[in-house]
Amino acid sequence: MASTLRRTWAEIDLDSLARNYRKLKAHIGEDVKFMGIVKADAYGHGSVQVSRCLQEEGADYLAVSSIDEAMELRKNGIEMPILILGHTPRDQTEKLIENNITQAVTCEAKAINYSNEAVRIGKTLKIHIKVDTGMSRLGYLCEGDFFEEGVRHIVEDCQMPGLDAEGIFTHFAVADEEGEEDLEYTRHQFKLFMDVIEAVESQWGKKFRLRHCANTGATARFPKTHLDMVRPGLLLYGYGDYARELDLEPVMSLKTAVQTIKHYPAGTDVSYGRRFTTARTTRMGVVGVGYADGLPRLCSNKCAFAAGSGFAPQRGSICMDMCMIDLTDLPEVSVGDEVEIFGAKAGVETLAAAAGTISYELLCALSKRVPRVYKNF
Ligand SMILES: *Cc1c(COP(=O)(O)O)cnc(C)c1O
Repeated sequence: MASTLRRTWAEIDLDSLARNYRKLKAHIGEDVKFMGIVKADAYGHGSVQVSRCLQEEGADYLAVSSIDEAMELRKNGIEMPILILGHTPRDQTEKLIENNITQAVTCEAKAINYSNEAVRIGKTLKIHIKVDTGMSRLGYLCEGDFFEEGVRHIVEDCQMPGLDAEGIFTHFAVADEEGEEDLEYTRHQFKLFMDVIEAVESQWGKKFRLRHCANTGATARFPKTHLDMVRPGLLLYGYGDYARELDLEPVMSLKTAVQTIKHYPAGTDVSYGRRFTTARTTRMGVVGVGYADGLPRLCSNKCAFAAGSGFAPQRGSICMDMCMIDLTDLPEVSVGDEVEIFGAKAGVETLAAAAGTISYELLCALSKRVPRVYKNF
C-alpha cells in the first residue's frame, strides 16, 4: 500500500470472510438459508465489499438498518434480496418497491402506511413481520396476555393489500449468554415465536416462506432455532468465543506503525494528565493511532498491542491521533515497524473489555479516516 497511508489502517481479508461463510454454511446445512448482517457498514468492514463477497459466494439475503444503507448496496451493484431491519418513512415506500428492498413491519401503524402507499402506486411491497418475544424493542408484542391481540394484528396485516408477507422474524436478547437463566429465556423466546407462527399461519391460511431468528449466539449454539434462515453478524466476521469454536477467522486487523522511539529515565511523566510515570528506564514508542481513529480513550493504560515478538503495553492517556507504547522488553521493534491493535494476534474482545464495552462497539466505532485495505478476493 502507499506509504502515505501507513499511519493506521484496517486490513480486511475477504478470503477469510469467504472461508467463514463456507464454514457457517457447512455448520447450518444445505436446507438453511443465510442472511448476512451488513448494517453499520458491515460492522466497520465495508458493506459494499462484504456484500459483493457474500453475493459471489451465493448467500441468500442481506440485512441493513436503514434505506440509506440498502441504497448504497443497490447503487454498487448488489442485487441480492435486502431486508431493512429498522424503520423506513412511509414516503419512501415507492423507493423500496422500485429497488426490490424488503421492509420489516413491526407494528400495525406501519403496515397500514406501507399498504396505503403500495396500493396508491399499484405495486406490492415485500415485508417481514417482526415479533417481539422478549427483546422489548421493535415488533408486535405477543407475550402473555398480548398473545391473541398480537396474533390478530399480524394476521390482519399480512392480508393487507399491497403487502407480500414473505417472512417473519424475532430477535434474541441473551442467545450469547451462558447462564442457565439466559438459556431458559432464549428457550422461552423461541417457543413463543413458534407459537405465534403456528397461530398466525392457521388463521391466515398461508405459510411464511422465511422464518428466521438465529443471531450469532443462536446460529452457533442452537441448531433448532435455525428454521429457514440464520442471521449472524459478529460470527460471520469471525470474532468472539463462538467464532473460535467454529474455527472462524477474524476478518479485520487494525494496524498502525511506530513513528518514533525515545528513551526516558525512571520518573518521567507520559502524555496528557500525567497518568503514567515510568518506573524504570523506558524505551517508549509513539504509534499513530488515537481516539479519533476509534481507539477508546477509556483503554488508556489498560491495553497492549502486538508488536515484534510480543505485546507492548500502552502507556499514558490515549490522545486524538497518537498514543505511547512501552517497547522496553521488545528491543527488536524499531521505527516504521507494524503494530497490531487488534486482529489475529490481539483479540478485539480484549481491547473492548479494557474499555468496558463489547467488540461490536469497537468495530463499528472505527472511524472514517482509517483506510480499509482489502486483501484478496
Ligand atoms: C444486528 C442484528 C443481528 C446480528 O446480530 P449478531 O449478534 O451480530 O449476530 C441479527 N438480527 C437483528 C435483528 C439485528 O439487529
